[in-house]
Order: sequence, then C-alpha cells, then structure tokens
Amino acid sequence: MQKGKYLLPVIMLAIFETIAVTLWLTKDNLFYLFNFSYIGISISLGMILFIRNYKYARRIVQLLVGLYMLVYLGIICNENMQIEGFWYYLFTGVFEAATIHYAVAKIFGPLLFGRGWCGYACWTAMVLDFLPYKIPTGPRKRIGWIRYITFAASLIFVAALFLAKVGNIERIMFWAFIVGNMLYYIVGIALAIVLKDNRAFCKYICPITVFLKPMSYYSLFRVKCDKDKCISCGKCKRVCPMNVDITDNSRKRENGTECILCMECVRNCPKGAL
Ligand code: SF4
Ligand code: SF4
Ligand code: SF4
Repeated sequence: MQKGKYLLPVIMLAIFETIAVTLWLTKDNLFYLFNFSYIGISISLGMILFIRNYKYARRIVQLLVGLYMLVYLGIICNENMQIEGFWYYLFTGVFEAATIHYAVAKIFGPLLFGRGWCGYACWTAMVLDFLPYKIPTGPRKRIGWIRYITFAASLIFVAALFLAKVGNIERIMFWAFIVGNMLYYIVGIALAIVLKDNRAFCKYICPITVFLKPMSYYSLFRVKCDKDKCISCGKCKRVCPMNVDITDNSRKRENGTECILCMECVRNCPKGAL
C-alpha cells in the first residue's frame, strides 16, 4: 500500500468526476455534477483516511454517502433509489435517478470497483454495521436463494402497478421507498441478531446482489494476496465479515463475489501480505 499510495483515491475521484461532468453536460442538469462529485469526494476522502490508518474511515464514508442518499435523495427529494425505483424508471423508459444510480453503483461500476457500494455507500449496511456482530461466528447458511425471491418480488410489484394502470405511481413509489427501507432495517437487524452476523441480510436476502455478484466477479479492483509474505495464519478469513478466502487470488476464490472491499483483512494481516 506504500508505493503510489494516494493513486487509488485520485483514480476513484477522476472516475466519479468523469461521470459527473458527462452526465451534467449530456443531460444538461447541474444536479448530476453535484451528486457524483459529492459521492466521489466522500469515497476518495474515506480512502485517504484509510491509507492514513484512521480506524473509522469506512464508517465516515458510509455515513456521508448513505445519509445523503437516504435522507436527501430519498426522503427530501422523493427519489426512490431502491430496486423498485430502478424498475420504475426502467419501465417508464427514462434514464434518470435510480437507473443512473444502478448503472453506476450496481451494474457497470462493479466491473471496476466490485462491491465497493456495499462496503462504503449502502444506507442499509450503514445501520447494520453498527450492530455488534461484526465477525460472523458460524458457517454460512445455504439460504442465499432467498435473494432471487426478493428480486422477483420487487419486479412483480412494480410491473403490477403498471399493468393495473394505477394512478399516481410516483406517490406510491415514494411510500414504497419508506416502507421498503423500514422492512429492510427490521429484517436486517432481526437476522443479524438471530444469526449473530451483521451482514446476514446482505448474504441471504438483499435483491441487489443479483446484479452485484455476477458483475463484481470481473472486478478490476480486487484485494490480492502476496503468497511470498503469507504465513497461512488464517486471520484474514477470521476477520472477514463476508467469509471470503482472500488468500486465493483466483476469481473463483471462496465467496469471492461477496467481497465488499472493507479492508478488514488488509488491516489485520500480520505480514502485510494483502
Ligand atoms: S448486499 Fe444489499 S444491503 Fe448489503 S450492502 Fe450490498 S446493497 Fe446494501
Ligand atoms: S492474515 Fe495475512 S498472513 Fe495470515 S493468512 Fe491472511 S494473508 Fe496470509
Ligand atoms: S475482509 Fe477483506 S475479503 Fe473480506 S470483505 Fe473485507 S476486503 Fe473483502
């Protein structure tokens, strides 16, 4: 992490600024410049704090981005940035708000930065990460198929609104955002307590992982292990909230598409092998 150590935050900021300026000019809307600049600056700031070994770097980014999206975009601006909002804009054929957000953070962005969204920006995990079960104690459950049900349910819900030609869909989408988020928090917190695992919701329930997992498989940015330094102590796997075997450098590493780039393994490796 020493050589060119600030290169990554600079690259990240450049990527977000490119998106910000491109969308601002092509869509003639200053909001995009503000929005993506704010997110890019927040993420880059977090990376710099992490490089400088500040313990709460990731939490700061989670709060800066998560609260902005939940409170400002979601509640104040009435933009449903949940998956239902994505379907809604997709059905209306408009490349705005949630469709842009999904394209950048959850569909094409993961080809570059994997599941960085899950580690640094998601407002659901922003709350779940405050719970005390940071390191999972038991083995993973074989219930990841639930995510496909929640994914299908979100699609059917929005499709049904369009098929039934329900009036004032925008208002319904706002309330879907409020109720959906409350449900996510209730289920996420309950599951974390029952399974003693803060990220149980992410592992088994979250519908967005249906996009995130396959795309992050090809992620350009990945944590890698220097086999010459590694002493196979296993600490990286023990502290990983997502049960990733980060010592395996192949893309098929165990739970590889679950890595949220939280860097707990890097921080805890006694040999600086990651
Ligand atoms: S898996 Fe879903 S809930 Fe968890 S951090 Fe990612 S987007 Fe958020
Ligand atoms: S913590 Fe470091 S030294 Fe230990 S197994 Fe992981 S990579 Fe190897
Ligand atoms: S601890 Fe390491 S392997 Fe596990 S999610 Fe965080 S960055 Fe990925």
